[in-house]
Amino acid sequence: MGRISGKTSVCGIFGYPVGHSFSPAMHNAAFDHLGLDWAYVPFEVRPQELPAAVAAVKALNLAGVNVTVPHKQVVAGLVDRLSPDARLSGAVNTIVNSGGILTGHNTDGEGFISTLGEEAGMRGPFGPALILGAGGAARAVAVALALNGAAEVIVANRTGERAAELCDLINKHTGCAASALNWPGLPGRGAAHYRDWASALGRVGLVVQTTPMGMHSRDGEIPPFPFELLNDGHVVVDLVYNPALTAFMKRCRAAGARVFNGAGMLLHQGVIAFELWTGVSAPVEIMRVALQRCLDVRRQEGV
Ligand code: NAP
Repeated sequence: MGRISGKTSVCGIFGYPVGHSFSPAMHNAAFDHLGLDWAYVPFEVRPQELPAAVAAVKALNLAGVNVTVPHKQVVAGLVDRLSPDARLSGAVNTIVNSGGILTGHNTDGEGFISTLGEEAGMRGPFGPALILGAGGAARAVAVALALNGAAEVIVANRTGERAAELCDLINKHTGCAASALNWPGLPGRGAAHYRDWASALGRVGLVVQTTPMGMHSRDGEIPPFPFELLNDGHVVVDLVYNPALTAFMKRCRAAGARVFNGAGMLLHQGVIAFELWTGVSAPVEIMRVALQRCLDVRRQEGV
């Protein structure tokens, strides 16, 4: 903190709680490495204080902020402009302050696309993809896939209405064909909808697990899934990053699929935010090491 001066550009993260965030470590390591006079600060913002906090981005002339749980949706209505991905997904995770104009972006989706290229060698235009879940992360991923040329997105969610809503959004606003897949429980061989799952998994090369099942506090929980329908042509990404290998990933790997966790998406959403704020190429490897250090500590602590 000795390096903070009167000229330091300040950015940060709004969340509640925010103490768990890895972003300060990632961004401050990047600023230090590049010798940039910037600092990244966590701000614990209660939901009722969010409008005041967003106004403070202008009042305090912050360069920008990340926005995390539980504010990503509400904040989309509090900024001056929205990027196409933020407008479509209805969620903002990064605000850029350009001379008092606040633009909301959603770098989660683009971060996911970057990590697909980097880790799995998959680049757009993408083939058909199956998404498990229809919450905020699923929306970001589905919109990013659709905006990056995915021909087809299939959404399976516990609450069917939310899957249908997400499909409507994709069908109305993009050239991608979206359809919902019935997911009332284990799509076992005897189930009426088993053939639909077999057909879906026969078409897709990518499966994205976006529910919180299997994360540290729900370790061992496995989304109901017909693992026997997977093969070595499937890439599976589980957005959970702690633990590094979820029970779901283990089952998918045993069935032959190539599996990746959500750490890459977490890194790349930060890389894109960094570049939006600073206009400078992010030192990706420095950020990756900083993130990995945080993840190692968290995984050792078992929290
Ligand atoms: P969210 O908006 O609350 O959505 C949760 C989704 O999971 C919903 O579709 C929900 O289904 C489903 N779900 C939850 N429990 C379930 C269960 N027991 N059985 C079946 N479905 C269940 O949460 P989110 O913001 O999308 O986050 C989801 C996960 O993604 C979290 O683990 C989060 O850490 C992770 N994530 C990772 C990154 C990254 O950078 N790697 C970024 C964002 C999020 P219903 O609609 O039926 O409730």
